[in-house]
Amino acid sequence: MNALRVILEFSSPVHHGTGEGIAHLVDRAFRRDSDGVPHLSGAALKGKLRYGALRWMRTTGEGNPECRPEDGRSCREEPCLFCQVFGSPRGAGRAVFSDCYPREADWFRDYSASISSPVLQAGGEVRTTTAINRRTRTVQPQHLFSTETIPAHVVFEGRISGRLNDAQQQLIRQGACLLNHFGADSARGLGFCRFNLVETEMGAAE
Ligand SMILES: [Zn+2]
Repeated sequence: MNALRVILEFSSPVHHGTGEGIAHLVDRAFRRDSDGVPHLSGAALKGKLRYGALRWMRTTGEGNPECRPEDGRSCREEPCLFCQVFGSPRGAGRAVFSDCYPREADWFRDYSASISSPVLQAGGEVRTTTAINRRTRTVQPQHLFSTETIPAHVVFEGRISGRLNDAQQQLIRQGACLLNHFGADSARGLGFCRFNLVETEMGAAE
């Protein structure tokens, strides 16, 4: 019963925001902690892997056919493998998903501490794109917006713990194989990545 290390290797820049901007300069800022280090939220990681696992079950016909979380109906009696891992309205799942941090988190932390500007953020890139009108699906003139991205070479790492047995780990792995994207704006080419899961020793705290 070891934990899984999650390694996200991107092939394009990624945006994962909080919905907040930076002053009036960046409309969509990257999610950062109080030290200014960009990271991917554990809740979003769980959401992606849950989606992947559900897709895997639907594609292969595995799992409890009575359990249809996508339709708002989960297991009635004993939780199935999917509900054991990801939880259901009847109970929390076993798996605990950490935030994913850059391998170079120290660099981001030090760089952030050295920047005195409240606006400039360490290590990000700002892309300006045209806004698309959702209704007409056409470009809106004079509606540019800016999005902070982290470059593709930054590798993010997190972990999944919670005393998962082999079958439970396997479900997460199968789901991860079906995923190739994290964060916003895949239609604009952002966030393409590989989800690598590596078994690792659990820390003393677990
Ligand atoms: Zn279930």
